[in-house]
Amino acid sequence: AKRQGRNNYQFITPALRESMQMQLALDVGLRGVARRGELVLHYQPQLDLRSGLIIGVEALVRWQHPQLGLVPPSNFIPLAEETGQIEPIGLWVLEQALQQVALWRQAGHARLRVAVNVSARQLQADSFVGEVARALERHHLPSNALELELTEGVAMGDPERMATLLGQLRRIGVAVAIDDFGTGYSSLAYLKQLPLSCLKLDRSFVSDIERDANDAVICSASIQLAHSLGVGVVAEGVETTSQLEFLRHLGCDVVQGYFISRPLSSADCSRFLQEEAAPRRG
Ligand code: C2E
Ligand code: CA
Ligand code: CA
Ligand code: CA
Repeated sequence: AKRQGRNNYQFITPALRESMQMQLALDVGLRGVARRGELVLHYQPQLDLRSGLIIGVEALVRWQHPQLGLVPPSNFIPLAEETGQIEPIGLWVLEQALQQVALWRQAGHARLRVAVNVSARQLQADSFVGEVARALERHHLPSNALELELTEGVAMGDPERMATLLGQLRRIGVAVAIDDFGTGYSSLAYLKQLPLSCLKLDRSFVSDIERDANDAVICSASIQLAHSLGVGVVAEGVETTSQLEFLRHLGCDVVQGYFISRPLSSADCSRFLQEEAAPRRG
């Protein structure tokens, strides 16, 4: 019996058991996480290459777990998408991001905008566009204070529905960006049909841009295509000055990445914005 018992357990290694327990803990903890005040947003600045100004920030969610500490989004967003918890989380993120950008605008960063990541499941709710419009009104913000980031997969899910939805967002004036561009099934036809404001070049192409000729070609072609369709380009994951210069040379509009700044707490981001806005001497 002992032996059999051992056999029964041999597939569940300690590491696997631990990861299963972790998943369960995360799943249970995720219910009501926004209500309990355990989520925080960090903000990563975006630099406009033409003006040299910080024109926006991307809101990135983290979970301040009472036992596990700061949990990165990759460890709970996929789970939240599966269980449906992404809907209340997404609404909390939208609310919090708009409240913060309203404060920064009042503090003098008058044209700053915030980019918010949106999951497929959130878009499936019929109330989505209405929620966005109401949230903007609540914070007395013009619609150009907000940009929504959708991944390619999300945008391609149901093309007709997506075209309608993006049309509605455009009508209320909210910009829509395609996130992680180049990693999914980019269909050029969709790009032309969907009313997009911006395309975000994935970090995987940017990190090797100087060494990998394929990556350079993908970036260059994406930028040209985007511009020919009247769509702007943000490059993500820019970590060095030479990557930035390379992208500038290719005509990229905006860069985001550790070279500009890591994602910052709201307090640190306030300081960063102040320093960037201060006139440089010398
Ligand atoms: P993403 O939208 O592609 O966000 C960019 C990720 O790259 C962030 O990771 C950011 O910290 C990281 N990053 C930025 N610059 C650099 C760089 O120069 N080098 C490197 N190596 N990494 C850089 P983070 O914050 O862990 O977010 C991971 C993903 O989680 C996001 O990827 C996004 O898909 C998802 N996510 C974050 N917040 C939300 C949210 O509020 N809602 C939803 N649905 N998803 C979110
Ligand atoms: Ca994003
Ligand atoms: Ca991305
Ligand atoms: Ca590569």
